[in-house]
Amino acid sequence: MRLLITGGAGFIGSNLVRAATLHRTVTDIRILDDLVTGRMSNLDGLDVETIPGSMLDDEALDRAMTDRDAVVHLAALPSVPRSLRDPIASHHANATGTLRVLEAARRHDVGYVVVASSSSVYGANPVLPKTELAWTRPLSPYAVSKLATEAYALAYQASFGLPTLAFRFFNVYGPAQRHDHGYAAVIPRFVDAALRGEPIELHGDGRQSRDFTYVETVCAVLLDAVERSVSHPQPVNLAFGARAELLTVVSELEQIIGRPIARRHVAPRGGDVRHSEADNRLLRSLFPDVVPTPRMNGLRATVEWFETHVLKQRA
Ligand code: NAD
Repeated sequence: MRLLITGGAGFIGSNLVRAATLHRTVTDIRILDDLVTGRMSNLDGLDVETIPGSMLDDEALDRAMTDRDAVVHLAALPSVPRSLRDPIASHHANATGTLRVLEAARRHDVGYVVVASSSSVYGANPVLPKTELAWTRPLSPYAVSKLATEAYALAYQASFGLPTLAFRFFNVYGPAQRHDHGYAAVIPRFVDAALRGEPIELHGDGRQSRDFTYVETVCAVLLDAVERSVSHPQPVNLAFGARAELLTVVSELEQIIGRPIARRHVAPRGGDVRHSEADNRLLRSLFPDVVPTPRMNGLRATVEWFETHVLKQRA
C-alpha cells in the first residue's frame, strides 16, 4: 500500500507517519506539506518521502499523487480563531484545497481517500451527544470550510464512485501538537504553561467540555480505514464519547505533574461551542477493533513528550 499523507509534517500527520511506518500493509509513505504550521523536525528519523509544497500548487500536487494507492488528507489551516482573522485563507486551504486533492486523486486513479472534517460543523446545535445525523450549523468560517471538506469528499463518492471516508475529528491531543503559536489548542497550551510553572489561561469559567481523543487512537482508526478501504456515505465522528470539562483536564494534569497549577480566567472566545461530545456508535460499528487510549495515559505521554522535546530544548 503506497500512501500519501497531506499535512504529514503537522501534528496528526507526523504521528500518522510514525504509526504507518510500523503498519503491516503500508509499504511506502509520502507526504505533501507546505510547512505553514507543520515542522520537518516532527519527522526526524522516519522513513518517508517528503514533497515540500502546497496542495494549492498544481505541480506539487501532481507529484504527490503519482502512484499512490490511498490518500489521508489532513492538510488544512486548522483553528477557529485563525479563520476569524482570515476567513478567505481558511476557505482556500480547507475547501478549495480539499476539492483539489479529490480531483487530483480522481485523475491519478487513487483507490481511496480519507478526509479530516471537524466536530465544529455541529456548531450551534446544542444536542449531546452529537450523532452524525444531527443538523449542522457552523459558527465560524473554519467550521464552514470543514463542512465543505466532508461534503466534497462524500460528493466525490456519490458522483464519481471514488471510495472516500470523511471523519469528524473532535479534540485531538498528544505529542507534537503545537503550543507555540497564537492558534494553539487547549491541551498543549495547558501542558506547556504547567511545566513552566505559569498559570494556565481559561477562556470563561473552564466548565466548557470537549471530547478529547489521543492522537495514537486517531491514527489507529485512520490506518484501519486505509487498510480495509472503509468507505461510508455519511461523515463519521472520530471520538469515543470521553467528554471532560477543561477544569477536569487541569486536575488530571496536576495529578500527573505532581503539583498545583494556577488558573487565570480570561474572556470567552467568539465562535467557540460550550460543550462537545461524540455519539460513537457509527465509529465503533465501522472500527470495532480500535481500543481508545484512556485520557490519563494519553495526557501522561503528552507531558513526557513536552518534557523531552520542549523543556529540554529551552534549557
Ligand atoms: P496541523 O496544523 O498540525 O497540520 C496541518 C498540516 O497541513 C501542517 O503540517 C501544515 O503545514 C499543512 N498545510 C496547511 N496548508 C497546506 C497546504 N496548502 N498545502 C500543504 N500542506 C498544508 O493540524 P492538525 O491538528 O494535525 O490537523 C490535521 C487535520 O485535522 C486538519 O485538517 C484539521 O482541520 C483536522 N482537525 C484537527 C483537529 C485537532 O483537534 N487537532 C480537530 C478537528 C479537525
